[in-house]
Amino acid sequence: AETPAPDPAAGAAVKAADRAHVFHSWSAQGLIDPLPIAGGEGSYFWDYEGNRYLDFASQLVNTNIGHQHPKVVAAIQEQAGRMCTMAPGFAVDVRAEAARLIAERTPGDLDKIFFTNGGAEAVEHAVRMARVHTGRPKILSTYRSYHGATGAAINITGDARRWPSDNGTAGVVHFFGPHAYRSHFYAETEEQECERALAHLEETIAFEGPQTVAAVVLETVVGTAGILVPPPGYLAGVREICDRHGIVFVLDEVMAGFGRTGAWFAADHFDVVPDLITFAKGVNSGYVPLGGVAISGAVAATFDQRPYPGGLTYSGHPLACASAVATINAMAEEGIVEHAAHIGENVIGPALREIAERHPSVGEVRGMGVFWALDLVKDRATREPLVPYNASGAANAPMAAFAAACKRGGVWPFVNMNRTHVVPPCTVTEAEAKEGLAVLDAALNEADAHTVDAAGAATDAARG
Ligand code: PLP
Repeated sequence: AETPAPDPAAGAAVKAADRAHVFHSWSAQGLIDPLPIAGGEGSYFWDYEGNRYLDFASQLVNTNIGHQHPKVVAAIQEQAGRMCTMAPGFAVDVRAEAARLIAERTPGDLDKIFFTNGGAEAVEHAVRMARVHTGRPKILSTYRSYHGATGAAINITGDARRWPSDNGTAGVVHFFGPHAYRSHFYAETEEQECERALAHLEETIAFEGPQTVAAVVLETVVGTAGILVPPPGYLAGVREICDRHGIVFVLDEVMAGFGRTGAWFAADHFDVVPDLITFAKGVNSGYVPLGGVAISGAVAATFDQRPYPGGLTYSGHPLACASAVATINAMAEEGIVEHAAHIGENVIGPALREIAERHPSVGEVRGMGVFWALDLVKDRATREPLVPYNASGAANAPMAAFAAACKRGGVWPFVNMNRTHVVPPCTVTEAEAKEGLAVLDAALNEADAHTVDAAGAATDAARG
């Protein structure tokens, strides 16, 4: 669609109302400057000043089919005309159909779907199911993970956002998952890192007491904390450890699911079947809030004759389910998952590797599908991150300069700590991807300026 004519006065009014009354997530309210947005379509959105942005973040890595997909918009409108809401205790056509379409795509016998309003709630309920199913209290999860901002989910989370709200919830234990590039152990290869990570998990369980551990919760491919693709054999190894100790294996696919990695579920790449999968985001591209838990036969059976102790007023909300049905059908009809795999393997991946060769600030390129990260460093030899962990203000200036250059070039980047993630919609075209990658390439000059190579070049120049 054509970007509408600029209307700065309307934008200013939106901003004034926002600043007066909207309390924003994860922000110091007095220090933020939210950009007023007028609309979006496909891979783009635009502000009121006439600036158009290629969405290389897919909002919060959720608009997997882009903005305003006509089939999904129509389905929401149709559902709204027919039935806006109906309590979860009733059988409703779109709810049943959404559950069927999801269950058909999950691996193994994860055939029962409990619907929530988003990802964090899905994690809360997966944890509750695991605890009731096993009668055990503890949940093991990794550092370098994000699982949501609610009670159990934020405590299970393994990044700095956990700290302010961490009340030391009983029974949450963190361990280190595989991450060869930043492993502090002996790992030099993916195989060694896999072996290290499995031994570490085994030892953690032994010291905690296997009889106390309800679940191991992992992101299949870690998202927000760095796009960490597990080495071959790791997830199968975790599955085996869980089986041996009667522990529920939960894969959190809130970000990785529904096409993001070039498969319906990321677990498909690794030939692993967990006991529970949490999903949200891509299930309906966030058009209406929706998430859920896909449940194996064995865990579901626990609740055959005894009530599941949990529920939500909006579980399986008809508008959300109608949008999920339309999204999944559109993805299937239009080959969107296959497209994501293709563009990752043939366009984004090769381009990022080539870009990395030109920029001393790029330490590592990793990812799959439309799920990529550049790990930016000061020094490739030591792998020292470009900015310190959880840096803000002046300490974060190199990343801020990089992000600003992307935006000036018309690309909305995903930036987290010392990383930029390349996470466009699964529907991004080859031309759009190349356009965005060219902007990213140029913006990396800002990061390069803060590397030891740049410092060395400056010293050389000064020496003449
Ligand atoms: N789990 C993962 C892997 C996520 O990436 C997120 C959000 O980014 C969540 C859970 C939380 O989802 P929500 O923000 O919908 O509560």
